[in-house]
Amino acid sequence: MNPDHKPATHCVHAGQPETEGPVVTPIVATSTFRFRDADHGAALFAGRETGYIYTRMLNPTVKAFEDCLAALEGGTHGLATASGMAAVSTAIAGLGSAGDHVICSKAVYGPTCTFLTDFLSRFGVESSMVDTTDLDKVRAAFRPSTKLVVIETPGNPTLAISDIAALAGLVRERGARLIVDNTFMSPILQQPLRLGADVVIHSLTKFLNGHADVIGGAIIVKDEELYRLYRRALNHYGGVLSPFESFLVHRGIKSLALRMQRHCENAQAIAEFLESHPAVERVHFPGLASHPQYELARRQMSGPGGVISFELRGGFDAGRRMMNATRLCALAVSLGGVESLIQHPASMTHAGMTEDQRCEAGITEGLVRVSVGIEDVGDIRADLEQALA
Ligand SMILES: *Cc1c(COP(=O)(O)O)cnc(C)c1O
Repeated sequence: MNPDHKPATHCVHAGQPETEGPVVTPIVATSTFRFRDADHGAALFAGRETGYIYTRMLNPTVKAFEDCLAALEGGTHGLATASGMAAVSTAIAGLGSAGDHVICSKAVYGPTCTFLTDFLSRFGVESSMVDTTDLDKVRAAFRPSTKLVVIETPGNPTLAISDIAALAGLVRERGARLIVDNTFMSPILQQPLRLGADVVIHSLTKFLNGHADVIGGAIIVKDEELYRLYRRALNHYGGVLSPFESFLVHRGIKSLALRMQRHCENAQAIAEFLESHPAVERVHFPGLASHPQYELARRQMSGPGGVISFELRGGFDAGRRMMNATRLCALAVSLGGVESLIQHPASMTHAGMTEDQRCEAGITEGLVRVSVGIEDVGDIRADLEQALA
């Protein structure tokens, strides 16, 4: 693996064999590994020798896939997890102790907010949901006990953009750590570790796998100490990805750069179409000049991504009629797959948040979210057009 290669090359080659034999990393379907002798087993457990012990701890198929994730994000190590939420919970809880305080973006994946406010709070970790697009608000939210800042940018589902480099500087100054959920961008469009973040998390379920047939997640770091801590945490929380699913996502990633290009082109065209449609009140999309952080988006991201949210003039009733009328775009949650999906955040993905939390995060009753797939853009536009009609 040549670290100087660009992401599109890593997508195809990183974590694949480089010596004589199979061209594709095989699936090593075993739960456990035979030791040479008793001393070998003891040496592996004591860390005097490296090697495979038990698949929850490490597996060759999973390891090859994790090397690919690290290369893509410009990190030193990746960890594959059983879901995006396993990545979120392991990355946050793995670093937190009772008495710590966490700052988290207000516009965030619903269950990430719920994990902090309903679950981690029971273990004495407090959190504040903050508008992380505003540096002053983040500064004001800091406490002496703040250990972690967790951001999602673009944030779900309002596509609010937080300045990763500026936040990384602030977080470093205060001796805390910055975790960035990079799911909406994929490493093709944004690489937070290079902008100063300490940890990147992903839901592999979305763009990285891209084919809507796997649930998975990832944690990527650029620091040996943090890696060891997370490897231990993941081994004890237990939410690891299986060898078979690692293989599937590794396979999906081969086309990631191509897919992202198409997602961006299609979403740009659909966002422009929606913005000019008389039934649409407002469109949130980082590729539109009307986006409040358009300039920052251009600096920090190499493309706008494939997710759009918008409000209809007719509010939620109009949105419900529209969602029931699409034919090509499936009415389903999730995003980042090859197929276009449409859903209603307030009653679906963000239903677990309180009304106040949603209101604070700008998730109105009338907001509709579309994940624009890689189909023919004319067909997607025609479907939305007939549904709006
Ligand atoms: C989907 C998603 C998650 C959670 O991922 P799962 O694989 O569904 O557990 C976390 N963050 C973001 C931004 C997501 O879109």
